[in-house]
Amino acid sequence: MPEPAYISERPLAEHESTVLVICCSSHVFLPYTQEFLEKHVGLEPGRYDLLAVPGGPQFLLLTEYLPKFAWAGQRWVKFLVERHRLKRVIAISHEDCAWYSDDRFIPQVLQRFGVGRSLKDRQREDLREIVQALRNLGLPISVEAYYAEKSPDEKVRFVREA
Ligand SMILES: [Zn+2]
Repeated sequence: MPEPAYISERPLAEHESTVLVICCSSHVFLPYTQEFLEKHVGLEPGRYDLLAVPGGPQFLLLTEYLPKFAWAGQRWVKFLVERHRLKRVIAISHEDCAWYSDDRFIPQVLQRFGVGRSLKDRQREDLREIVQALRNLGLPISVEAYYAEKSPDEKVRFVREA
């Protein structure tokens, strides 16, 4: 048998999770998201299920433009909620998300609908639609959404959107 590359300091602890967090995989915002979850929501690492993908929960709104993304995402959410009997879903988007500036995923035609709206406004509106899309899955969960943005003092603040 090959030698292990690493062995954890602590023994394996299998805590129960009742919460699914859906957020962007951005390496910049992820540490602050984890801090928010621990300090504000009261969820330490290992106490929640995490679905961190580029663009975060935005995949739930891609049913028309990238239906396969939306389909896979819905399957992940349903799988986790049903398998782990989760009760609560927390969706988080963040400012300066690269996903939103890439027109392979957010086509120009969609951007045009939003003339006069800032990207932040668009993301916040998306969050409210995401909450609805999660509710439409018909799962026995409560849903809430937050927007993470830079504060004037260069910190990251989380604002509840829905
Ligand atoms: Zn992002």
